[in-house]
Amino acid sequence: MTGWVVIAGLGPGAEALVTPEVSDALAQATDIVGYIPYVRRVTPRPGLTLHESDNRVELDRARHALEMAQGGKSVVVVSSGDPGVFAMAAAVFEAVEAEPAFAALDIRVLPGITAMLAAAARAGAPLGHDFCAINLSDNLKPWALIEKRLRLAAEGDFAMGFYNPRSASRPEGFVRTLAVLHETCEPERVVIFARAVSTAEEAIRVVALKDATPDMADMRTVVLVGSSRTRVIPRDGAPFVYTPRFTPA
Ligand code: SAH
Repeated sequence: MTGWVVIAGLGPGAEALVTPEVSDALAQATDIVGYIPYVRRVTPRPGLTLHESDNRVELDRARHALEMAQGGKSVVVVSSGDPGVFAMAAAVFEAVEAEPAFAALDIRVLPGITAMLAAAARAGAPLGHDFCAINLSDNLKPWALIEKRLRLAAEGDFAMGFYNPRSASRPEGFVRTLAVLHETCEPERVVIFARAVSTAEEAIRVVALKDATPDMADMRTVVLVGSSRTRVIPRDGAPFVYTPRFTPA
């Protein structure tokens, strides 16, 4: 039996946002590998082994998946959202680069709906013009680099999506992020806190930068910051937020 590895994105949470391509791969798999909460999103069945691991062992997890495929298993490595966005796909290729024999394996990446796009759709079209994504966790890069990218993105007038904005072990980072935004953006700049998008706990909050506070974000939140051109259309209930596609010269 020839093994394979599929690195799949499960989307932001809702079953309806898992692509048919990913569902097919899960149905064919013998083994599922991933961070505990993502593996738990896969329905158990006879013949399927679930390998849950802690979040901090990405390279070990990647190597384990590749070794199982070498042994003939059909392995799906699961991430939330899209596997290429601050997730497992890069870790798998890092393991492949370190062990050339892995490069001969059948390895495919299946895209998923990433959190910032699911959140943007809920709010309207805040990413309708140029935008960028920044991971605010300094687990894998120095804080100075995060701050530099924040400043340059604000200076470039990109809309921005922030992943991993604030955790219990890193409460200060988001305080500093807001401080940088206050230095670089006007007080009325639109900020969207989108929590647990597409799940039963979903909460979307649209505020002006001057009213944004650190406690509005946690690890289940993706934060979208508009560009200077982003507009809010008030209405009963949540407003529509959009960024016009046209920027005058
Ligand atoms: N690969 C994932 C991102 C993993 S990093 C993706 O493409 O979406 C984890 C971060 O993603 C979280 O801290 C949060 O910022 C964001 N996130 C993931 N799922 C989310 C959801 N349903 N709602 C809001 N943010 C989410």
